[in-house]
Amino acid sequence: MYASVQHWVETAPDREALAFGEQSWTLAQLDYRVRQAAGALRAAGIKPGDRYAVLDKNHPACVELTLAASLIGAVNAVVNFRLSEEELVHVLGDSTARLAVVGEEFAPALRGLKHRLPQLNEVIVLGGEDDQYEKWIAAAEPVTDPYPAEPDDCFLQLYTSGTTGWPKGAMLTQRSMSAHTKGLVSAYDMDESSINVVAMPLFHVGGTSWALGSLSAGARTIIVRDVVPAVLLDLIERRAATHAFFVPTVIQMLLSDPDRARVALRSLEVLGYGGSPMPAPLMEHVLSTLDTPLYSVYGMTELSGVFCVLGPDEHRDDTRKYLRASAGRPLPGAEVRVVDPVTGEDAAPGEVGEFWVRSEQAMAGYWHMPEATRDTITPGGWLRTGDVGRRDTDGFLYIEDRVKDMVISGGENIYPAEVERVLLEHPGIAEVAVIGVPDDKWGETVKAVVVPADGAEVVQADIITFARERLAHYKCPTSVTSVAELPRNATGKLLKRQLRTRFTT
Ligand code: ATP
Ligand code: MG
Repeated sequence: MYASVQHWVETAPDREALAFGEQSWTLAQLDYRVRQAAGALRAAGIKPGDRYAVLDKNHPACVELTLAASLIGAVNAVVNFRLSEEELVHVLGDSTARLAVVGEEFAPALRGLKHRLPQLNEVIVLGGEDDQYEKWIAAAEPVTDPYPAEPDDCFLQLYTSGTTGWPKGAMLTQRSMSAHTKGLVSAYDMDESSINVVAMPLFHVGGTSWALGSLSAGARTIIVRDVVPAVLLDLIERRAATHAFFVPTVIQMLLSDPDRARVALRSLEVLGYGGSPMPAPLMEHVLSTLDTPLYSVYGMTELSGVFCVLGPDEHRDDTRKYLRASAGRPLPGAEVRVVDPVTGEDAAPGEVGEFWVRSEQAMAGYWHMPEATRDTITPGGWLRTGDVGRRDTDGFLYIEDRVKDMVISGGENIYPAEVERVLLEHPGIAEVAVIGVPDDKWGETVKAVVVPADGAEVVQADIITFARERLAHYKCPTSVTSVAELPRNATGKLLKRQLRTRFTT
């Protein structure tokens, strides 16, 4: 992975590589810092295959430490700073990291957890007046003898978002990240003249893989620590950024002042969004406000990032408006099958099944979870995404739901997302989660957990009748419970497993 960045270090050493706040580093400076960081890690006893962790909001040190891992054969395990204490202990313990680089603002929390992390014996604090990280790397001998990495060597361990269970450590490799970069560069025309904004968190694949792809393409890479809409708009305008990638909620925030957004974003050649679906009203708002080329990005941690893209022409194709709900078509390096999760047979075009992907972008497996790895990667090399959806006759994919959320009632597969879409049309419902609960007769039956709209009272019989007028009866809820709020994880994704536990026991 680092070889692709070194190509630019050799050809354009004085060009800007990374920027962060008021600071900026040329390619030669970045290269020197990466070698220093690699030297500091080696001096701390980090050997090929060893894990260390980074816990902070976005900071260039995280990128340096990932590139350093690639240089010395070690593995950077980046940890989500928004995790709860329990999740932090789980992920840091799981990573087996002996050393952690932690942002100043997270250092007290980590110190408080140290007694629960016996393997963690070195913590280096990043930032603040007494920046230990700066001193640590400055004191090190820069590495000049890189580890001879093999394509299947892992150098980056990113954790899945933990939507369907505990976050799992996806082992991303030299091969998987290089393949991802190739896809990224061709899908978004990224090159050495590009100026990329990395505002997605670096603990998430959408942040780190975007940054690595950008640096490998020789582009200028701007790291954003906190997403403050007005500041972000100023930055994009001042730097005349060409590429940016956000989750839909950030795009919504950026467009709160449409006139300002139109001016500030006019240099963008690629505005990517993804990670979760963009609601249709927001999509229409974006399309009518901006001329910017829009790219929808469907990806996942296990595939090193994006593997499926819907391009700008499809977004503005008025004769095929339905395409706007699509996740796009697979990138050239990705083969996709749509497989019936129950029978294991390939689904016909238009039929719903699980997306299976075969691509060089696939992870080596989950870190020390052989069983979960076997369940996810088939002997034929297909990676089961856990997402269900359809492929139309033109090859566009439509994500419907998650396999783990599917309800099987009386032998029929029910996709909760379809039921949720219908129930959301009910004026008394603000939010809804549909789950399966055990049932003696049908195996499982459908339950709706709803957050009532302001001032509305939820009447179970009304909602069931409403559903029955619009859906096949076996898909309709047989019970409705109202709650004040639905459980979500740190990234805002709905945690149906918690609802299932709550309403099953
Ligand atoms: P876990 O695997 O731990 O349950 P997760 O799947 O949410 O968590 P990520 O790897 O961060 O963890 O997210 C990938 C998932 O996000 C995809 O499998 C898909 O369900 C969803 N996703 C990604 N991009 C899109 C998109 N463009 N539209 C809709 N959903 C998306
Ligand atoms: Mg997942």
